[in-house]
Amino acid sequence: MPHMQFQPVFETKKRPILIAGPCSAETEEQVLETARALASQGIDLFRSGIWKPRTRPGAFEGVGKVGLDWLKMVKEETGLRVTTEVANGQHVELALGCGIDVLWIGARTTVNPFSVQELADALRGVDVPILIKNPVNADLKLWIGAIERIYQAGIRRIALVHRGFSKYGEVKYRNVPQWELPIEMKIQFPDVQMICDHSHICGNRHMLLEVAQRALDLNYDGLMTEVHPDPDSAWSDPEQQVTPLHYGEMVEELIVRKPIATDKDLLYKLRLLRSDIDDIDEKILELLAKRMIIAEQIGEYKRENNIAIYQPQRWRDILENGLRKGVALGLSNECIGHLMKTIHQESINHQSKVMNEPLEVDGKG
Ligand code: PEP
Ligand code: MN
Repeated sequence: MPHMQFQPVFETKKRPILIAGPCSAETEEQVLETARALASQGIDLFRSGIWKPRTRPGAFEGVGKVGLDWLKMVKEETGLRVTTEVANGQHVELALGCGIDVLWIGARTTVNPFSVQELADALRGVDVPILIKNPVNADLKLWIGAIERIYQAGIRRIALVHRGFSKYGEVKYRNVPQWELPIEMKIQFPDVQMICDHSHICGNRHMLLEVAQRALDLNYDGLMTEVHPDPDSAWSDPEQQVTPLHYGEMVEELIVRKPIATDKDLLYKLRLLRSDIDDIDEKILELLAKRMIIAEQIGEYKRENNIAIYQPQRWRDILENGLRKGVALGLSNECIGHLMKTIHQESINHQSKVMNEPLEVDGKG
């Protein structure tokens, strides 16, 4: 795929970009009441699901196309831009017919290349901005594939929505954020705006602020939040929706960080600290290289004595030791686990290379 050049979905320089509205459109009154309250708070895009992809049948599956008329009323009355989820070609046709400004592709659709291709085909030749949510499972290739399919249809205004990843047995989050994945997307697509859908990550109200702040600290462009006039009686996702009042208070509490430092004094201090970090990184690399030389020496003994490279008991000892020491030094279990595994794997690779070199026989070269 040749290099992709994107355009912003949101022109505003203001951060965070705010997308808010009910999980689902339920009634004309509920949609308009929410929109009025949010318009007065200056949000950038009003969201509302019309067709709801529910995991199990029998749950509320959306009001369908009548809801598009309510979104049209929102536009006319409040001047807000509006967005809804589309999952097939017919949704695209109906939504565009009603003047919906932005379309979003949900997590259960991004996961399916057939569906994404159907959407791409329906979007060919249309200039409408598209928000692409991450797929339900933590597979970056599916997310990237969806971007490519939509891009190939000629769409250039594409933004990404991080809504977390489904994980069996998880209890803290409804969908675990796995922040390293959207960060990787930002590295691969630096000019694509990244929005955090903290409502679907949290699945509850009490963590919304904390997760939104984390997203801003990571330099996200905006937030998507589910807002309902009476959250407890919402027809879908009642636990995670908040009232417009609660929403406004939360937005007020957010601390917006500058994307880059500009103050001279601060830049100087940062440069000093960063140069310390560079020195430490260099030392870590030198130490790793030393470790590999020793691993290779061990590899030679193993080759000469015909011993297997991988010694499970030794690996368990290394990991246990690392965890004990690392935790005492204030490092997380997760970091130590990844680090030790990577180092150990690199040692095995070095040893394998040595083990597979032909044995030198005395007197011969
Ligand atoms: C939604 O935004 O209402 C929704 C269904 O989200 P997701 O696709 O992230 O589950
Ligand atoms: Mn929802």
